Amino acid sequence: MKTACTATPISKTRTSKRRFIGLAVAWCISATLVGSCGGVQGPGSRVQSPGSRVQSPESGAPIVILVSLDGWRWDYLDRARVPRLRALASMGVRSEGLIPPFPSKTFPSHYSIVTGLYPEHHGIVSNNMIDEAIGERFSMSAPTAKDSRWWSGEPLWVTAQKQGQIAASMFWPGSEVDFGGVRPTFWKPFDDDFPNRQRVQEVLKWLRLPEPERPSFITMYFSDVDSVGHSAGPESSEILATAAELDREIGVLVDGVNTLAIASRVHYVIVSDHGMSQTSTRRVVVLDDYIDTRTVDLIDSSPVVGMWPRTGTAEDIYLALKDKHPSLTVYRRADVPAELHYNSHPRIPPVIGIAADGWTVTTRRQLDDWQASGRQLGGNHGFDPRLRSMHGLFIASGPQFRQGVIIPPLENIHLYAMMARVLGLRPAPNDGRLEATAGVFR
Ligand code: AMP
Ligand code: ZN
Ligand code: ZN
Repeated sequence: MKTACTATPISKTRTSKRRFIGLAVAWCISATLVGSCGGVQGPGSRVQSPGSRVQSPESGAPIVILVSLDGWRWDYLDRARVPRLRALASMGVRSEGLIPPFPSKTFPSHYSIVTGLYPEHHGIVSNNMIDEAIGERFSMSAPTAKDSRWWSGEPLWVTAQKQGQIAASMFWPGSEVDFGGVRPTFWKPFDDDFPNRQRVQEVLKWLRLPEPERPSFITMYFSDVDSVGHSAGPESSEILATAAELDREIGVLVDGVNTLAIASRVHYVIVSDHGMSQTSTRRVVVLDDYIDTRTVDLIDSSPVVGMWPRTGTAEDIYLALKDKHPSLTVYRRADVPAELHYNSHPRIPPVIGIAADGWTVTTRRQLDDWQASGRQLGGNHGFDPRLRSMHGLFIASGPQFRQGVIIPPLENIHLYAMMARVLGLRPAPNDGRLEATAGVFR
């Protein structure tokens, strides 16, 4: 089975490869002990000379599979029946939480994970935004979301491709964007109806490609836990059932990988973009109680309101809302606390309101619509990332990672440099620090 010697497309340093081989042996031995290395033998001893670029599949360069389980709050790992994720965690490293950037929303947070940049530096300052220079509105579900003018920084798939590796994306915010002619070699237009099992099969298909065509960095994305978190809330039985369903997909992925000769090279980095907080119709701040909402362009949705003046000034809006409701904190752009890293980008609205944990901020009209339709408020996110409820999931399992270790909550901007290190890539400038993930590595 493992006879093919194939050329690799990758020119990596020999030192990082040697270090990897030692680690891979150790990891595979221990992984086999817990029944998850699929009987794949340890890496062979052939280290190719850079000129020949020939190696056996099992002795080759590291592979990273980055999986996002959107909206997976940190505590679901212990509350739900998720044996496959727990096995990966116990074979590797988990953190007590993964701290998103502000706002703790899907697009900004996912893009921070793959760039190592805070939203004020990567430009995706929320799921919805205005750019006066571009003269358009960005919405994550609109075609504008694929326009490269909105996306700064260098996502890891671009770093990989630029340095001679192959990247593949089974969905990720930004993966459809053309970065100056660079894209993942394999990618698909986002389609949330594309079945989860097919997402897994697609990734396994890429991993079965011959060495010169096989990606070393793969992203995967699943939205189910976020959707059910919004509809049924983070404390519901539905959320636990949905988490268990996704755990089965992770099981199919791991089992599939374990049938391949490259299994001992695979590093799983399993994350979520944010947590989830229970909201309620009893906890609503109605903006119309303080301002004439017709005079304000409200961009972004609860629990964050970004406000651009239509008439009057930003200062009028700020003064009208400041300290008016105990569960709504209002800032001028320049005054947003430094810990939130949300001041410098011109797309950040001049006035920002942030609801307290579990609260909703909205207009009278929207509240009336919700009440007329009998809509209950389930879960939401976007709140201050320092809140425990906003912390997500982080598991890292693979030969370069430590085993059975739990680390304190970690900011997700550090993962870009961490994954670049695993892959032997030179990271682009970013806000993360490699030392922050030192506890993850062997
Ligand atoms: P949020 O409103 O922050 O909860 O966003 C979650 C939603 O983002 C999911 O239900 C997906 O439909 C959507 N989404 C996730 N990834 C993408 C993508 N790459 N392109 C477009 N929409 C996406
Ligand atoms: Zn999300
Ligand atoms: Zn969501």
